[in-house]
Formats: sequence, structure tokens, C-alpha cells
Amino acid sequence: MVLSSVLGFPRIGANREVKKAVEAYWAGKISADDLTKAAAEVKKASWSSVKAHGVDFIPSGEFSLYDHVLDHSAAFNVIPKRYVGLGLSPLDVYFAIGRGRQADGVDVPASEMKKWFDSNYHFVVPEFSEETDFKLNFNKAVEEFKEAKAAGVTTRPVVLGPVSFLVLGKAAKDAAPGFQPISLLPKLLPIYNTLLADLKAAGAEWVQVDEPILVLDSAASLEKEFTAAYTELASIAPKILLTTYFARLDSNIHFVAKLPIAGLHIDLDRAPGQLQEVVDAIKNTDIVLSLGLVSGRNIWKTDFDAAIKLAKVAVEALGQDRVIVATSSSLLHTPVTLANEKKLTEEQKDWFSFALEKAEEVAVIAAVLSDSQDAKVAAALEANKVSITKRRAFESNSDDTVRKRVAAITPDQLERRSPFAVRKEVQAKHINLPKFPTTTIGSFPQTKEIRVARAKLGKNELTTEEYEEFIKKEVESVVRFQERIGLDLLVHGEPERNDMVQYFGEHLHGFVFTQNAWVQSYGSRYVRPPIIVSDVSRPGPITVKWSSYAQSLTQKPMKGMLTGPVTILNWSFPRADVSRELQSKQLALALRDEVIDLEKAGINAIQVDEPAIREGLPLRRADWDAYLKWAVDSFKLATAGVTDQLQTHSHFCYSDFDDIFPSIQRLDADVISIEASKADMKLLNTFKHYGYSNQIGPGVYDIHSPRVPGAQEIKDRLKSMLDILPDSLLFVNPDCGLKTRGWKETEASLINLVDGAKWARENY
Ligand code: GLN
Ligand code: ZN
Repeated sequence: MVLSSVLGFPRIGANREVKKAVEAYWAGKISADDLTKAAAEVKKASWSSVKAHGVDFIPSGEFSLYDHVLDHSAAFNVIPKRYVGLGLSPLDVYFAIGRGRQADGVDVPASEMKKWFDSNYHFVVPEFSEETDFKLNFNKAVEEFKEAKAAGVTTRPVVLGPVSFLVLGKAAKDAAPGFQPISLLPKLLPIYNTLLADLKAAGAEWVQVDEPILVLDSAASLEKEFTAAYTELASIAPKILLTTYFARLDSNIHFVAKLPIAGLHIDLDRAPGQLQEVVDAIKNTDIVLSLGLVSGRNIWKTDFDAAIKLAKVAVEALGQDRVIVATSSSLLHTPVTLANEKKLTEEQKDWFSFALEKAEEVAVIAAVLSDSQDAKVAAALEANKVSITKRRAFESNSDDTVRKRVAAITPDQLERRSPFAVRKEVQAKHINLPKFPTTTIGSFPQTKEIRVARAKLGKNELTTEEYEEFIKKEVESVVRFQERIGLDLLVHGEPERNDMVQYFGEHLHGFVFTQNAWVQSYGSRYVRPPIIVSDVSRPGPITVKWSSYAQSLTQKPMKGMLTGPVTILNWSFPRADVSRELQSKQLALALRDEVIDLEKAGINAIQVDEPAIREGLPLRRADWDAYLKWAVDSFKLATAGVTDQLQTHSHFCYSDFDDIFPSIQRLDADVISIEASKADMKLLNTFKHYGYSNQIGPGVYDIHSPRVPGAQEIKDRLKSMLDILPDSLLFVNPDCGLKTRGWKETEASLINLVDGAKWARENY
């Protein structure tokens, strides 16, 4: 029989219970016990409902209060020294690593976060050194397995694999030069042995061991490590299902097929083309193949016929008993359930599947492949056919004007009129900023009042006029605040935006929105990605009103603020029926019109945020060039329609640019700001190494934590930045995301930042 499986489930709870409980705990409003109870309720509900949908392999152990990689580090005692000996409970140490802590005489910054492969989920980067003292502080896999069992659900526990754990980590500051975390593998394996042996003793038949790095090119050189690790673990562990996701195994399948594993999971949503090669490679083994047919990354209803056709390739070669139908990855990247969507039309609702609906999909597909005669299965199959036919009919509609405009894009539309050196002179006269200009990345605190006003507008308790009056007052107070503390290049603060992507989606044609489709970004931060359903166009100006109002309030220059095409695409659920390139270009044209309108309205600097450009990079190098071509072209298309006077800015979050630097240069933004406060000076050295010649604003302090950086700390940062970068190119700004902060720490931090810039002007 073909069995079904889900690789992981969203943690937030159908009604955001976990997010609320975690934040209440941070605010001191509930106890650690209350938090544990709230989490237990959500876990129980998830396990039971996945089971109720008929799924055979139900995940446990992947739940997290903050981040599953951080859970794993905490369990394995991979706790950086700076968090030890502070007199905190283990739970508070855990949160301190994730988000920093500044209270009761304790002052530690958060650890570095990185994006989880090509998703918008962030994990806390483990830090290793020769001194890392692995021990099993607690066995989360066993605890949750038992917890689920007590709730009447037998699960397949999930554990992050040893090779990925080490490779995803970094060398701690005090590690010897050249230290490689992977060198710790022999020391780490005994701890995995204990963990897995305990799991077996607790009664787990299978364990899902995630080794997502197997889809990266770099894994090709780790055959020896994988072989050593799995040979050792297989002898004591429950049956191991080795899981890979987000891309293809490629040649790595040749050594993976030889590992002593009981099962292998591959992603057929992202990489359907790998199926035959994988089947051939494992045919003569006993390995069970788990087919990731139901997307863990997008929300479109699975086309059952297409999935079944693909799965049959495996069933015919391996037999029913060696095939599992699964979600392509954890469902962490999808919202909990469609049942909570009350505003989508019936037609729209019929297009989508969220996590719970996907659980049902894997169960139905597996049943069909097992030749089930159940009438309910036949009905589900038939209903799916009807839905998919209707969706295909909708998808066949296109906006000819937009399609023609995309087809007619010419190379000169991508280039500014003059090279940067010329523009810099023109802009210097036109905008007149001092040396080391201070600015922020766009948003200011989204206070409770703002959220309440927006909610009231949504419930028609405020008229549009009343709401806009309110937003105007917010803009004014943000402008006055910036003038008061002495910032140079101002922003309007983005109070009108619920979210940097959703807001634009709401003002463009081609999107639909959900009420509850929350997806975790990091910690307790969740986003609600809009869904692109048809061709995109701009019915009219979006931000011009706010930016020009803000500019009218002040003599200082105002920076317009837009989200870039690649980021809107990446942080939305994209269409699956046309290419990402087409969607990106349509977005770029809409933004190009907005940029031109902003300049016409008298705005002299415009920032187009593209934090997702790096994140959207395909995981396999062979696919990079094609992506970078259209992604960079999209940004240029959006920003190049203006005169030399206009200073274009772009912003990237903590992106690793080492390997794609020429593409960053090709963007040709006048100023780029990057989140740099946590990533050491490595990033800046990359800019230096490539001789980057446009202006750059590396974040001087971290915004993801409420901690206030001291004045000296900021000066020290600037000093080390100026050791690397030419002083004529440096902008002084914080990292991004002030909207997540309160006013108190924002004010204190920015005053120190302005002081830092003054100090730099006197000393450089
Ligand atoms: N302009 C946005 C802000 O400041 C940028 C956010 C981001 O890069 N993630 O909030
Ligand atoms: Zn950012």
C-alpha cells in the first residue's frame, strides 16, 4: 500500500495562539507554564487534525516556540558563551539567543539569523568552535513523540540531520582560524546516537532526518561525512527517512542511494525532473521513496491527475509498498487552513489548499495509488478534476496590454541616462546631503494606535477620510521626529502600510488576499503573503500621495519608498501557471510607472527595497545566471525611468553577496543599504574586494531586537566600516525594520546614530 505523509506543520496555531502566547510571555504577562500549555494545545490540535485527514506519517518534534534550528542547538548544548552564566532560565537563554535581551542588568545581542534556503523563513545560525561541548540537554524528539502518543497520535519524529546542522552553522568568533564546523562530526555523532536510541526505546518506528543541504552543490564534497554519519546512526536508530527538499539531488543521489537508510524523500514540486534518476538509483536497494508531490511552498490545490501520473513512475518501478506520497517540504511555509478564510469568493477558495487541506491531499493521492475502492476517495478525485478544470479556465484569461508591454521591453529601458559618477555630481547639487548622510530604511514603529486605526477601517468603523487624516498625523509626527533628532534624508514612515508587500499587492490588479494565511518569517514574526492570481498592472499611483504630503511638510529631502518587483514576487504566493520571470517583469513595469510619478511629484530620492533578490536565487548554481538576468533586469526596469537628479536607493537584508556580486553592481542603484550589524564586516569586505563604487549604507545597529546600541558602540561600528569603505561612499543608517520596534528604543538608538555620524564628520 502507498502511505501518506506530512513533513512538518505550521506552528502558529489556527488562531495564532502560539504567536500570542510567546509574545505574552516576553511581555511578562504569562508564565513559562502558561506558554508550555498554550503550545501543547496547538501541537495536540495539529497532530489530531492531520491524523483525522487520514495521513499515515504525522510529524512531531518540528514544532518550535521560535526556530527549530535554535531548538536543536539548545538541545545539543550549542550555546554561545555570551549567553551562559547570565542567571537566566533555559527558556530565557533560548529566547535571548533568538532575539537578544536587555533587562535587569543583562545586555546581550541576538545571534545571527539567516534565511532558510530560498525561503523567507529565518533560522538562528548555530556557532561552533573546537570547544563546543555537545551534550543532550533535553530530547525534544522523544518528548514530543511521547506528548503526541499521550494525545492518541503515533508520530514520525523529525530531527535535523548532523551534517546539515554543522554545515548550516558557522565558526564562532573564538574558533581557530580556518576552523570548519564539519570537523566536529565525530564528536557530534555520539549525541545523535543517544537521541536516536532513546527515540527507538520510546517506540518510534521511523524517524525523519532532514538533510536539506543535500540539494546544494556543496554537498557533493561531503560524501565521506554522510557515509560515516549514516553508517553509524543506522545501526541504532529507528528506520531513517532521509529527507531533502527545495531542489534536486542531482549527482548527490549516487552516494545517497548507497547510504544505509530505510527511506529517502525528494521534492517533486520544485524538481519533478529528478524522479526517474532517483528511481533508477535506488531500484536495487530496499529504500522506500517518499515523493514530495504536494507543494510545501505554495498554496495552489494539487492537480491530482498530474501528481498521480508522476507517482506511477515510482509505483511501477518500486511497487506500492516502497512509495510514500508526501508534502514536498514541511508545511511550515504555508498557512494553517482555508477554513478560516471568510472573504475569499467560493471561486477563489476552490483554487487553494493550505496546510490542513494539503494533509488531506496527500492522503487522497496515496489512497488512489493504493487502488482504494472507497467512494469518498473517488469523490475527492472527481471534485479535484472539476476544481482544476475551472482554475485552468480562469488562468487562460490574460491582460493583453500588459503582456504586450512586457514583450516590448527594450535594453535602453533598463539603463539610467548617465553613469553613476555623473549622477553623483548632479545629485550632490540637487539633494544637498552632508557627508555621512543619515537616513533610515523606511518604516517607523507601527504602534498599537496605527494597528487599531487600520482594523477600524477594515470594519468600517472609520471612514477612508478619517483613516487618512489619522495617517497624515502619523506622517507628520514621524517627519517632526526626524527633524528634531537631526536625520538628513527623511522618510514618511510607512504608517499606511500593513506590510511592505501586501500593501502594494492591494493597490495592484492581479492579487488576492487572505485574512488568516500567516506564514512564519522569524520568531514570532509572521507575514501574510498575498497571492498572485492573474496578470499584474497598476490602476493608478500608489504612494505618491503619501510621499508628496510628507515632502510638503519639510525642507529636508524626503525619500520615497517602494517594494521592488523581485521582492513582491518572492514574498507573495506566485502563480504556478506562468513563469516567475513574466510575473516579475509585470510588477517591474507597474513600479516603473510609480517611480516616474514620484519624480514628477517632486520626490528626489526613491528607495526600492529588494531584500528578497538573494533569497530568490536558485539553490543550484547551474540555475543562477538565468535567474539573475531577469531579476536584475526587473529592478533596473523599475528604477531606470528617471532623470540623473533622482537618487535611487535599494535595500537588501542580510544577504550574502560574495558569489553574486557582479549582479549587485549591475543593479546600479545610487545607494544601497544592507543589513550588516550582525554579519561582522565580511559583507563590507566583499564590497571592497569588488571595488564597489556606488554609495552604500551598511546598517550600524541591529533592529530585530529591542536593545539600544550605545553611542560608543555605534562609533566603533562606523570606525570599522570606515577602515574598509571610502568615506565619500558611506551613508549612516540602522538595519531595516523599525516598524517592529517601539518608539522609546527607536528614539534612543537613532539619537546615538546621529551622534555617530557627527563624530564621523569631525574625524574623517
Ligand atoms: N522599507 C522597509 C522597512 O523599513 C524595508 C523592510 C525590509 O527590508 N525587510 O520596514
Ligand atoms: Zn531589510
